[in-house]
Amino acid sequence: PPRRLVQPDKRDDDADATLRPQRLADFVGQEQARANLSVFIAAARQRAEALDHVLFVGPPGLGKTTLAQIVAKELGVGFRATSGPVIAKAGDLAALLTNLEERDVLFIDEIHRLNPAVEEILYPAMEDFQLDLIIGEGPAARSVRIDLAKFTLVGATTRAGLLTTPLRDRFGIPVRLNFYTVAELEFIVSRGARVLGIGMTPEGANEIARRARGTPRIAGRLLRRVRDFALVDNSPAIDRAVADRALVALEVDAAGLDAMDRRYLSVIALNYGGGPVGIETIAAALSEPRDAIEDIIEPFLIQQGFVQRTPRGRLITAHAFRHLGLAEPARESG
Ligand code: ADP
Repeated sequence: PPRRLVQPDKRDDDADATLRPQRLADFVGQEQARANLSVFIAAARQRAEALDHVLFVGPPGLGKTTLAQIVAKELGVGFRATSGPVIAKAGDLAALLTNLEERDVLFIDEIHRLNPAVEEILYPAMEDFQLDLIIGEGPAARSVRIDLAKFTLVGATTRAGLLTTPLRDRFGIPVRLNFYTVAELEFIVSRGARVLGIGMTPEGANEIARRARGTPRIAGRLLRRVRDFALVDNSPAIDRAVADRALVALEVDAAGLDAMDRRYLSVIALNYGGGPVGIETIAAALSEPRDAIEDIIEPFLIQQGFVQRTPRGRLITAHAFRHLGLAEPARESG
Protein backbone atom coordinates (compact mmCIF):
# COMPACT_ATOMS: atom_id res chain seq x y z
CA PRO A 1 0.00 0.00 0.00
CA PRO A 2 1.18 3.58 -0.57
CA ARG A 3 2.95 5.18 2.37
CA ARG A 4 0.95 7.89 4.06
CA LEU A 5 2.44 11.23 4.87
CA VAL A 6 0.66 11.24 8.22
CA GLN A 7 1.47 7.66 9.08
CA PRO A 8 3.26 7.88 12.41
CA ASP A 9 5.64 4.94 12.13
CA LYS A 10 9.30 5.32 11.28
CA ARG A 11 10.57 5.91 7.77
CA ASP A 12 14.09 6.07 6.49
CA ASP A 13 13.78 9.64 5.27
CA ASP A 14 12.52 11.05 8.56
CA ALA A 15 15.89 12.31 9.79
CA ASP A 16 14.39 11.87 13.26
CA ALA A 17 17.80 12.21 14.86
CA THR A 18 18.14 15.87 13.83
CA LEU A 19 15.10 16.96 15.82
CA ARG A 20 15.60 14.65 18.76
CA PRO A 21 15.84 16.36 22.15
CA GLN A 22 18.90 15.19 24.09
CA ARG A 23 17.97 15.82 27.73
CA LEU A 24 14.87 15.34 29.82
CA ALA A 25 14.65 19.10 30.31
CA ASP A 26 14.43 19.65 26.52
CA PHE A 27 11.74 17.02 26.08
CA VAL A 28 8.43 18.81 25.51
CA GLY A 29 5.17 17.47 26.93
CA GLN A 30 4.40 14.15 28.69
CA GLU A 31 4.60 15.97 32.06
CA GLN A 32 3.65 12.99 34.16
CA ALA A 33 6.07 10.61 32.47
CA ARG A 34 8.87 13.15 32.67
CA ALA A 35 8.29 13.95 36.33
CA ASN A 36 8.22 10.28 37.33
CA LEU A 37 11.24 9.34 35.24
CA SER A 38 13.32 12.14 36.68
CA VAL A 39 12.64 10.86 40.21
CA PHE A 40 13.49 7.26 39.35
CA ILE A 41 16.61 8.31 37.46
CA ALA A 42 17.83 10.49 40.33
CA ALA A 43 17.20 7.69 42.83
CA ALA A 44 19.04 5.11 40.70
CA ARG A 45 21.98 7.50 40.38
CA GLN A 46 22.10 8.15 44.11
CA ARG A 47 22.07 4.44 44.87
CA ALA A 48 24.59 3.83 42.08
CA GLU A 49 22.34 1.05 40.85
CA ALA A 50 20.82 0.11 37.53
CA LEU A 51 17.43 1.74 36.94
CA ASP A 52 14.50 -0.67 37.12
CA HIS A 53 13.27 -1.94 33.74
CA VAL A 54 11.10 0.61 31.91
CA LEU A 55 8.25 -0.05 29.46
CA PHE A 56 7.09 2.79 27.19
CA VAL A 57 3.61 2.29 25.83
CA GLY A 58 1.98 4.49 23.21
CA PRO A 59 1.25 5.02 19.52
CA PRO A 60 4.20 5.35 17.12
CA GLY A 61 6.01 8.68 16.86
CA LEU A 62 5.30 9.98 20.38
CA GLY A 63 8.90 9.82 21.58
CA LYS A 64 9.52 6.34 23.01
CA THR A 65 12.92 5.90 21.32
CA THR A 66 13.84 9.48 22.15
CA LEU A 67 13.01 8.98 25.82
CA ALA A 68 14.94 5.71 25.95
CA GLN A 69 18.05 7.54 24.71
CA ILE A 70 17.45 10.35 27.16
CA VAL A 71 17.14 7.89 30.05
CA ALA A 72 20.57 6.44 29.22
CA LYS A 73 22.06 9.90 28.87
CA GLU A 74 20.60 11.12 32.16
CA LEU A 75 21.84 7.97 33.89
CA GLY A 76 25.26 8.52 32.35
CA VAL A 77 25.39 4.96 31.00
CA GLY A 78 25.82 3.23 27.66
CA PHE A 79 22.91 2.79 25.24
CA ARG A 80 22.25 -0.11 22.89
CA ALA A 81 19.21 -0.33 20.66
CA THR A 82 17.53 -3.15 18.81
CA SER A 83 13.99 -4.20 18.02
CA GLY A 84 11.80 -7.24 18.61
CA PRO A 85 11.59 -8.51 15.03
CA VAL A 86 15.35 -8.10 14.50
CA ILE A 87 16.29 -10.58 17.26
CA ALA A 88 15.73 -13.84 15.41
CA LYS A 89 17.33 -16.38 17.73
CA ALA A 90 18.00 -16.75 21.44
CA GLY A 91 21.71 -16.55 20.59
CA ASP A 92 21.27 -13.06 19.11
CA LEU A 93 19.80 -11.77 22.34
CA ALA A 94 22.46 -13.61 24.36
CA ALA A 95 25.16 -11.83 22.37
CA LEU A 96 23.56 -8.45 23.06
CA LEU A 97 23.11 -9.15 26.76
CA THR A 98 26.61 -10.47 27.38
CA ASN A 99 28.07 -7.34 25.81
CA LEU A 100 26.32 -4.97 28.21
CA GLU A 101 28.21 -3.21 30.95
CA GLU A 102 26.95 -2.52 34.45
CA ARG A 103 23.88 -0.23 34.41
CA ASP A 104 23.77 0.05 30.61
CA VAL A 105 20.42 0.62 28.89
CA LEU A 106 19.29 -1.96 26.34
CA PHE A 107 16.42 -0.58 24.28
CA ILE A 108 14.12 -3.06 22.53
CA ASP A 109 11.63 -1.33 20.23
CA GLU A 110 8.48 -3.27 19.27
CA ILE A 111 9.16 -5.62 22.13
CA HIS A 112 5.77 -7.29 21.60
CA ARG A 113 7.22 -8.78 18.41
CA LEU A 114 9.92 -10.87 20.12
CA ASN A 115 9.69 -14.50 19.21
CA PRO A 116 8.65 -16.71 22.14
CA ALA A 117 11.97 -18.59 22.33
CA VAL A 118 13.80 -15.28 22.66
CA GLU A 119 11.31 -13.92 25.16
CA GLU A 120 11.85 -17.01 27.30
CA ILE A 121 15.52 -16.22 27.89
CA LEU A 122 14.70 -12.59 28.60
CA TYR A 123 12.79 -13.48 31.80
CA PRO A 124 15.75 -14.71 33.91
CA ALA A 125 17.91 -11.98 32.36
CA MET A 126 15.51 -9.29 33.57
CA GLU A 127 14.82 -10.85 36.92
CA ASP A 128 18.11 -12.35 38.08
CA PHE A 129 20.55 -10.98 35.51
CA GLN A 130 21.30 -14.52 34.45
CA LEU A 131 21.28 -16.23 31.14
CA ASP A 132 20.38 -19.90 30.83
CA LEU A 133 21.64 -21.25 27.57
CA ILE A 134 21.56 -24.70 26.06
CA ILE A 135 24.83 -25.44 24.31
CA GLY A 136 25.05 -28.26 21.78
CA GLU A 137 22.37 -30.67 20.63
CA GLY A 138 20.98 -34.08 21.40
CA PRO A 139 22.60 -36.13 24.19
CA ALA A 140 25.63 -33.83 24.23
CA ALA A 141 23.48 -30.78 25.02
CA ARG A 142 24.14 -29.11 28.35
CA SER A 143 22.85 -26.02 29.95
CA VAL A 144 25.10 -23.24 31.09
CA ARG A 145 24.33 -20.29 33.30
CA ILE A 146 26.01 -16.97 32.61
CA ASP A 147 25.97 -13.97 34.95
CA LEU A 148 25.09 -10.70 33.27
CA ALA A 149 25.86 -7.13 34.19
CA LYS A 150 22.97 -5.48 36.04
CA PHE A 151 21.42 -3.63 33.14
CA THR A 152 18.20 -1.71 32.46
CA LEU A 153 15.87 -3.01 29.81
CA VAL A 154 13.80 -0.29 28.17
CA GLY A 155 11.02 -1.75 26.06
CA ALA A 156 8.66 0.07 23.72
CA THR A 157 5.31 -1.10 22.44
CA THR A 158 2.24 0.45 20.89
CA ARG A 159 -0.27 -1.28 23.18
CA ALA A 160 0.40 -2.93 26.54
CA GLY A 161 -2.13 -5.64 25.70
CA LEU A 162 0.17 -6.94 22.96
CA LEU A 163 2.69 -8.13 25.57
CA THR A 164 2.45 -11.47 27.31
CA THR A 165 1.62 -11.10 30.99
CA PRO A 166 4.94 -12.54 32.25
CA LEU A 167 6.88 -10.05 30.14
CA ARG A 168 4.69 -7.09 31.11
CA ASP A 169 4.99 -7.99 34.81
CA ARG A 170 8.77 -7.81 34.71
CA PHE A 171 8.83 -4.07 34.03
CA GLY A 172 9.00 -2.11 37.28
CA ILE A 173 8.36 1.23 35.56
CA PRO A 174 5.53 1.24 33.03
CA VAL A 175 5.16 4.62 31.32
CA ARG A 176 2.22 5.53 29.13
CA LEU A 177 2.71 8.24 26.47
CA ASN A 178 -0.21 10.30 25.27
CA PHE A 179 -0.91 12.38 22.18
CA TYR A 180 0.56 15.90 22.41
CA THR A 181 -1.48 19.07 22.68
CA VAL A 182 -1.44 21.63 19.86
CA ALA A 183 0.51 24.03 22.09
CA GLU A 184 3.20 21.41 22.74
CA LEU A 185 3.44 20.60 19.04
CA GLU A 186 3.68 24.31 18.19
CA PHE A 187 6.68 24.48 20.44
CA ILE A 188 8.23 21.39 18.82
CA VAL A 189 7.56 22.73 15.30
CA SER A 190 9.02 26.15 16.11
CA ARG A 191 12.12 24.60 17.58
CA GLY A 192 12.41 22.22 14.62
CA ALA A 193 12.20 25.20 12.25
CA ARG A 194 15.01 26.92 14.14
CA VAL A 195 17.16 23.77 14.05
CA LEU A 196 16.57 23.37 10.30
CA GLY A 197 17.09 27.10 9.65
CA ILE A 198 13.57 27.71 8.35
CA GLY A 199 11.70 31.01 8.78
CA MET A 200 8.41 30.34 10.56
CA THR A 201 5.71 32.57 11.98
CA PRO A 202 3.76 31.48 15.10
CA GLU A 203 0.65 31.12 12.92
CA GLY A 204 2.54 28.86 10.51
CA ALA A 205 3.68 26.69 13.43
CA ASN A 206 0.11 26.58 14.72
CA GLU A 207 -1.25 25.43 11.37
CA ILE A 208 1.25 22.55 11.17
CA ALA A 209 0.76 21.65 14.84
CA ARG A 210 -3.04 21.48 14.49
CA ARG A 211 -2.72 19.04 11.62
CA ALA A 212 0.00 16.77 13.04
CA ARG A 213 -2.33 14.28 14.77
CA GLY A 214 -0.88 14.91 18.20
CA THR A 215 2.35 13.27 17.04
CA PRO A 216 5.84 14.86 17.01
CA ARG A 217 7.12 12.58 14.25
CA ILE A 218 4.29 13.71 11.96
CA ALA A 219 4.89 17.34 12.92
CA GLY A 220 8.53 16.96 11.88
CA ARG A 221 7.56 15.33 8.61
CA LEU A 222 4.94 17.95 7.76
CA LEU A 223 7.46 20.65 8.61
CA ARG A 224 9.94 19.26 6.08
CA ARG A 225 7.32 18.93 3.34
CA VAL A 226 5.88 22.40 3.96
CA ARG A 227 9.41 23.75 3.81
CA ASP A 228 9.72 22.36 0.26
CA PHE A 229 6.56 24.20 -0.77
CA ALA A 230 7.79 27.43 0.79
CA LEU A 231 11.10 27.13 -1.02
CA VAL A 232 9.53 26.56 -4.41
CA ASP A 233 7.00 29.37 -3.74
CA ASN A 234 9.83 31.69 -2.82
CA SER A 235 8.19 32.43 0.53
CA PRO A 236 10.67 33.92 2.99
CA ALA A 237 8.88 32.35 5.96
CA ILE A 238 6.24 29.73 6.57
CA ASP A 239 3.12 31.60 7.64
CA ARG A 240 -0.41 30.25 7.98
CA ALA A 241 -1.24 30.69 4.28
CA VAL A 242 1.89 28.90 3.07
CA ALA A 243 1.38 26.07 5.55
CA ASP A 244 -2.30 25.72 4.66
CA ARG A 245 -1.65 25.68 0.92
CA ALA A 246 1.04 23.04 1.31
CA LEU A 247 -1.06 20.85 3.60
CA VAL A 248 -4.08 21.04 1.29
CA ALA A 249 -1.84 19.98 -1.59
CA LEU A 250 -0.57 17.12 0.59
CA GLU A 251 -4.20 16.10 1.30
CA VAL A 252 -3.90 16.62 5.02
CA ASP A 253 -7.18 18.22 6.01
CA ALA A 254 -7.93 20.82 8.67
CA ALA A 255 -8.29 18.15 11.36
CA GLY A 256 -5.05 16.43 10.30
CA LEU A 257 -6.89 13.54 8.65
CA ASP A 258 -5.57 12.18 5.37
CA ALA A 259 -7.22 10.22 2.57
CA MET A 260 -6.84 6.93 4.47
CA ASP A 261 -8.57 8.25 7.59
CA ARG A 262 -11.40 9.66 5.51
CA ARG A 263 -11.73 6.34 3.68
CA TYR A 264 -11.96 4.54 7.03
CA LEU A 265 -14.66 6.91 8.25
CA SER A 266 -16.50 6.87 4.91
CA VAL A 267 -16.63 3.09 4.75
CA ILE A 268 -18.28 2.96 8.17
CA ALA A 269 -20.56 5.90 7.35
CA LEU A 270 -21.68 4.81 3.90
CA ASN A 271 -21.46 1.01 3.91
CA TYR A 272 -22.51 0.34 7.49
CA GLY A 273 -24.75 3.28 8.37
CA GLY A 274 -22.19 4.59 10.84
CA GLY A 275 -21.76 1.25 12.64
CA PRO A 276 -21.34 -0.51 14.94
CA VAL A 277 -19.28 -2.68 12.64
CA GLY A 278 -16.59 -5.23 13.51
CA ILE A 279 -12.92 -4.45 13.01
CA GLU A 280 -12.41 -7.50 10.78
CA THR A 281 -15.13 -6.29 8.45
CA ILE A 282 -13.56 -2.84 8.26
CA ALA A 283 -10.13 -4.36 7.62
CA ALA A 284 -11.53 -6.41 4.76
CA ALA A 285 -13.37 -3.43 3.28
CA LEU A 286 -10.22 -1.28 3.38
CA SER A 287 -7.84 -4.12 2.40
CA GLU A 288 -5.61 -3.12 5.30
CA PRO A 289 -4.28 -5.38 8.04
CA ARG A 290 -6.28 -5.21 11.24
CA ASP A 291 -3.14 -4.42 13.28
CA ALA A 292 -2.30 -1.39 11.17
CA ILE A 293 -5.85 -0.09 11.59
CA GLU A 294 -5.80 -0.58 15.35
CA ASP A 295 -2.29 0.83 15.86
CA ILE A 296 -2.09 3.60 13.33
CA ILE A 297 -5.48 4.80 12.15
CA GLU A 298 -7.79 4.35 15.11
CA PRO A 299 -5.97 5.75 18.15
CA PHE A 300 -6.03 9.32 16.87
CA LEU A 301 -9.57 9.07 15.47
CA ILE A 302 -10.78 7.74 18.82
CA GLN A 303 -8.88 10.37 20.79
CA GLN A 304 -10.39 13.10 18.59
CA GLY A 305 -13.91 11.76 19.08
CA PHE A 306 -14.51 10.60 15.52
CA VAL A 307 -14.86 6.93 16.44
CA GLN A 308 -15.96 4.92 19.44
CA ARG A 309 -15.02 1.36 20.25
CA THR A 310 -18.06 -0.53 21.53
CA PRO A 311 -18.57 -4.21 22.37
CA ARG A 312 -20.49 -4.53 19.10
CA GLY A 313 -17.83 -2.89 16.96
CA ARG A 314 -16.74 0.53 15.76
CA LEU A 315 -19.22 3.36 15.78
CA ILE A 316 -18.58 6.72 14.18
CA THR A 317 -19.86 9.83 15.88
CA ALA A 318 -21.93 12.83 14.81
CA HIS A 319 -18.65 14.74 14.74
CA ALA A 320 -17.35 12.31 12.07
CA PHE A 321 -20.46 12.69 9.94
CA ARG A 322 -20.11 16.48 10.13
CA HIS A 323 -16.43 16.24 9.21
CA LEU A 324 -17.28 14.15 6.14
CA GLY A 325 -20.07 16.56 5.21
CA LEU A 326 -22.65 13.78 5.47
CA ALA A 327 -26.03 13.71 7.14
CA GLU A 328 -26.14 11.43 10.15
CA PRO A 329 -28.65 8.61 9.72
CA ALA A 330 -31.15 7.90 12.48
CA ARG A 331 -29.56 5.24 14.68
CA GLU A 332 -30.46 3.42 17.83
CA SER A 333 -28.02 4.44 20.48
CA GLY A 334 -25.79 1.64 21.51
P1 ADP B 1 8.64 6.50 18.83
O1 ADP B 1 9.86 5.75 19.28
O2 ADP B 1 7.61 6.63 19.90
O3 ADP B 1 8.07 5.99 17.55
P2 ADP B 1 10.55 8.67 18.43
O4 ADP B 1 11.18 8.76 19.78
O5 ADP B 1 11.35 7.99 17.36
O6 ADP B 1 9.10 8.01 18.54
O7 ADP B 1 10.19 10.18 17.99
C1 ADP B 1 9.81 10.49 16.67
C2 ADP B 1 10.26 11.88 16.29
O8 ADP B 1 9.57 12.85 17.06
C3 ADP B 1 11.74 12.16 16.51
O9 ADP B 1 12.19 13.00 15.47
C4 ADP B 1 11.79 12.90 17.81
O10 ADP B 1 12.88 13.76 17.83
C5 ADP B 1 10.49 13.67 17.78
N1 ADP B 1 9.98 13.83 19.14
C6 ADP B 1 9.34 12.90 19.85
N2 ADP B 1 8.97 13.39 21.05
C7 ADP B 1 9.41 14.65 21.08
C8 ADP B 1 9.33 15.71 22.07
N3 ADP B 1 8.71 15.51 23.23
N4 ADP B 1 9.87 16.88 21.77
C9 ADP B 1 10.47 17.08 20.57
N5 ADP B 1 10.57 16.15 19.61
C10 ADP B 1 10.05 14.95 19.86
